[in-house]
Amino acid sequence: MSSVHADPPPPIVPEPGGINYATGSALGKGGFAICHRAERYDGSKPTGHLVALKIVKTKMEPAKLAQKVWQDISASSGRGANIYQFVTELQIHSKLSHPNIVTFYRAFSFQTSTYVVLELCPNGSLADMLKRRKYITLPEIRRFVIQICGAVKYLHHRHIVHRDLKTGNLFLDANMNVKVGDFGLAALLVTEKEMEVKRRTTMCGTPNYLAPEILEKGKGHDEKVDLWAIGVIAYTLAVGKAPFHATTKEEIYKKLRSGTYTWPELSATTNQSADLRHLVASLLVPEQQRPPPDQIVSQNFFKIAFVPDSIPSSAREKAPVWT
Ligand code: ADP
Repeated sequence: MSSVHADPPPPIVPEPGGINYATGSALGKGGFAICHRAERYDGSKPTGHLVALKIVKTKMEPAKLAQKVWQDISASSGRGANIYQFVTELQIHSKLSHPNIVTFYRAFSFQTSTYVVLELCPNGSLADMLKRRKYITLPEIRRFVIQICGAVKYLHHRHIVHRDLKTGNLFLDANMNVKVGDFGLAALLVTEKEMEVKRRTTMCGTPNYLAPEILEKGKGHDEKVDLWAIGVIAYTLAVGKAPFHATTKEEIYKKLRSGTYTWPELSATTNQSADLRHLVASLLVPEQQRPPPDQIVSQNFFKIAFVPDSIPSSAREKAPVWT
């Protein structure tokens, strides 16, 4: 990945057409982008609409970028790959509209950067929340997993595979609803052949969440990888670490290939249940056996059990007390 420029963004970023963005504090830094809070202005009038402004240092217009990228596709330079990835992300993300997917508003260029205006998720990611909390309670996990399944059902229905679902890409809006974000690695299943070959044979994703079939070199992978990731996410939220956890990539791969993972001892005080174990076990299986989102949420874990209607933002720091 190329280095991310960390210079402060311009205080005012103009979008063609009279809209301006007043930039605020940084939200985070990714592989090739930096994200800032921003307020939308109608000319010089503040609108009160806060957004996340994703900034990527590249001069090219998104449309030109898109054109160029098709020519660049086989370029092996790191920069080419990043541009390719970025355009793919824009193309996929701009077509999506779902309550549990980060809304994409628009993309434009200004000076030396391309700006992507996204729905602001002010409560951070599930990874941030897990870091502070150590583990997440079962009622919260039920609500989060139901929302993730809703988003994944929507994506798969449109033949889009996210391919990089993980707690760090699951953002929380002001009402603690999950919003799937970061479509950098998402892939449309139905695309030009050239693209398909490239995508399907490229190793990608964080090893902790990789489905085992991705390890099999040369073997294609499809939307089933997202279902595997949901299993990993459910386990990780409950236990505080991933099921195939290890210090090196190689060790993770070894564990993944053997498909064995263990649960911490089940006791009255542990944050897990037999139903949660069943849910995870139904997903961490060979690809053909993984249930689709609708079948995931009809499992016992979600039935006859408490699913909160909302989660307070205090849950970012502290387990809610359900009465
Ligand atoms: P990259 O695609 O380069 O990995 P990301 O999309 O992960 O960049 O964005 C970088 C960081 O910015 C994220 O890790 C997150 O902390 C923050 N971020 C991204 N999108 C949003 C958003 N919509 N709302 C709030 N924070 C966000």
